Amino acid sequence: MESILKKYYGYTEFREYQKEVIQKILEKRDSLVVMATGSGKSLCYQVPPLLSGKTGIVISPLISLMQDQVMSLTQRGIRAEYLASSNADHSVYTKAKSGHYHLLYMTPEKACSIHTSFWSKLLELGICLVAVDEAHCISEWGHDFRVEYKKLDQLRGILLDVPFVGLTATATERVRIDIINSLKMSNPYLAVGSFDRKNLFYGVKHFNHGASSVEELVQEISKFAGSAGSTIVYCTTIKDVEQIFKSLQEAGLKAGIYHGQLGSKTREESHRSFIRDELHVMVATVAFGMGIDKPDVRQVIHYGCPKSLETYYQESGRCGRDGIASACWLYYTGSDFAKADFYCGELKEANQRRAIAESLMAAKRYCIATTCRRKFLLNYFGEKSSVDKCGNCDNCLVSRIERDMSKEAFLLMSSIFSCGGNFGLNMPIDVLRGSRAKRILDAQFDKLPLHGLGKDYSSNWWKAMANQLISHGYLSENFSDVYRIVRVSRKGMEYLNSATPDHQPPLILPLISDMVG
Ligand code: ADP
Ligand code: ZN
Repeated sequence: MESILKKYYGYTEFREYQKEVIQKILEKRDSLVVMATGSGKSLCYQVPPLLSGKTGIVISPLISLMQDQVMSLTQRGIRAEYLASSNADHSVYTKAKSGHYHLLYMTPEKACSIHTSFWSKLLELGICLVAVDEAHCISEWGHDFRVEYKKLDQLRGILLDVPFVGLTATATERVRIDIINSLKMSNPYLAVGSFDRKNLFYGVKHFNHGASSVEELVQEISKFAGSAGSTIVYCTTIKDVEQIFKSLQEAGLKAGIYHGQLGSKTREESHRSFIRDELHVMVATVAFGMGIDKPDVRQVIHYGCPKSLETYYQESGRCGRDGIASACWLYYTGSDFAKADFYCGELKEANQRRAIAESLMAAKRYCIATTCRRKFLLNYFGEKSSVDKCGNCDNCLVSRIERDMSKEAFLLMSSIFSCGGNFGLNMPIDVLRGSRAKRILDAQFDKLPLHGLGKDYSSNWWKAMANQLISHGYLSENFSDVYRIVRVSRKGMEYLNSATPDHQPPLILPLISDMVG
């Protein structure tokens, strides 16, 4: 195994899990590889064909992705090709059938539509694996569901004795289970890696839509443009893409543009110039996605919060693939979190709507968190991190002025609790601020002892306070169909129970003025 690695790749040793997965595949065991982007998953399915002399089939969602891979494999002296309607050269099929290729790439549509005689011919010579790359596309819970992936179980029915290996960088349990079930994997070998990308810095900034925020962004990028490596700016709308692209060009930066409404030729050109370092910055929607195997992207900026942390992690993870320090900045604005309906589109099913609202809420919690961002992300993906501060995110690096907010926290939690726990933030905050609005009088909340005790602070101040208490786990947030409901969590109840109106245990939080934006 090591000599193959040296011969074709020039590397001296396998990464720990690679060797195990390769061995399991050679033993014909199904495998599922869940590893962070850049961790070297491809090697797991590229090596077995070299060892066994049998062809490996790779299912991949995009032609451009396959082209890149085939090119780099060919350069290493590995025989690889892809099958697609755009590549209709008949000799490719003839060679493929005769077992000429180590690796044969195809889209799921292609895999399911190839004549069975092709498969039986190849099976006679031996197929050592079917690799399903970007396997999360199989799951409706994933962020990139593709219907064609669902049909891959047909292939399973044809290639009975061939091990399947699913590969993805999306970590959630639900997606994992979906992959295993959809591909009908029996007792698969699981290789689940750490999701910590230590070389990536994580930071978040609040912004308000408008010319000044674009200008600030352009300035930040200009500071960077002199150094080596490139930047990707992801926007949530095409309008933003166009505006930022224009501003970057006006500032004299070499910028590219990429979104779904551009013709495929323009997109390909854009992509290519970016890969070749002819551009410093690519401004794009999420359409600029899979297959950006550029090792030296130094910075990914999200201008607008993505719809889930899964998406965020995947997109931001496109920087620093070479292991060198790189930065992931997320710019968010309040209206980003009112987009659940927009993302739901035509969806009628309540469960799916809830899944979307929950994902968005988690993204919001990430944005407003005052604790370590890395720890937050890793926890979200079910990974325990032993340290509280990573030292490589904005919250760990910026020294915040902290102070004891026990009195204010006590008031807010008490008000939320006293209002009965079935409201958003407006009602309990209005009560604290002494409002005599009709709905407050109707509910007799003006008779609560704490009515009016919080009028020294603005409504926005209290909302920022609530966000901090949410991010520290004292309050919990739920979405019903329409409303956000904020309740006192178990941790919050423990705090309330340990306090009295005259005396509260310390509760240290960053200064609120840092947070109001
Ligand atoms: P992934 O598919 O997990 O995103 P890749 O397979 O593209 O990651 O690999 C990322 C980088 O790591 C590539 O440049 C690859 O050549 C390199 N790499 C993979 N395995 C090893 C290894 N054993 N030793 C050194 N570099 C490796
Ligand atoms: Zn940190």
